[in-house]
Amino acid sequence: MRLQRLSLFHETAFFISPSPFGRGRGEGELMNKNDLSELLERSALHHSHLCPRQILGVRLGLLGMKALSFDSPPDKKRLLVIVESDGCFADGVIAATNCTVGHRTLRVEDYGKTAATLVDTQTGRAVRVAPALDIRQKAYAYAPDEPRHYFAQMQAYQIMPDCEMFTVAEVQLTTPIEAIVSRPGARVNCDVCGEEIINEREIQHEGLMLCRACAGNSYYHAAVRISTQEMDLQMTGR
Ligand SMILES: [Zn+2]
Ligand SMILES: [Zn+2]
Repeated sequence: MRLQRLSLFHETAFFISPSPFGRGRGEGELMNKNDLSELLERSALHHSHLCPRQILGVRLGLLGMKALSFDSPPDKKRLLVIVESDGCFADGVIAATNCTVGHRTLRVEDYGKTAATLVDTQTGRAVRVAPALDIRQKAYAYAPDEPRHYFAQMQAYQIMPDCEMFTVAEVQLTTPIEAIVSRPGARVNCDVCGEEIINEREIQHEGLMLCRACAGNSYYHAAVRISTQEMDLQMTGR
């Protein structure tokens, strides 16, 4: 399995307009306001603040689920979310979808974008939801009395219709869902460093079973090993 890749999905040529799920319901029905504030509260729980990006994340998560015909997070890890940045936005998506790193239902592909792909692992359908390119300009029109951009976005992102906020596209993952999810029970040891590799993340190379680091695909350069006893001594010597 090749682990380094540029993109996790291929966008197909057509876009789904958010209107089938957003419009036509009347603006009052756009979303239950209590539901949204509850999700925003949940999102802000682990923050000292609520911010526009969290709201964006909650709204995006809800719309992505709607595009997959879920009105609430499905159980049994059916939903997989790939967020394209970490931080406040991701926390909003987590609050809306219940998908987390701990449940192995959330991945971060850090493209530095406030976009995400939601995958129905049962049917294989995947939808990528991204903010409309002019979302900020549109937001200011929804909060004309708020001169501060930050607070205008805070207000607007809670009331804007989906079709003004986002684009939704049907996408195909470039890695099979089975490979992304993998078998959680699997474990092997790296033939070079000996460390255990779980979740089928090993790489087979010339008859060897390698971890990503030993296969030359590492995010770090190992320098000098540190003795934990020395660490203890330093701590007590302080
Ligand atoms: Zn924030
Ligand atoms: Zn290794």
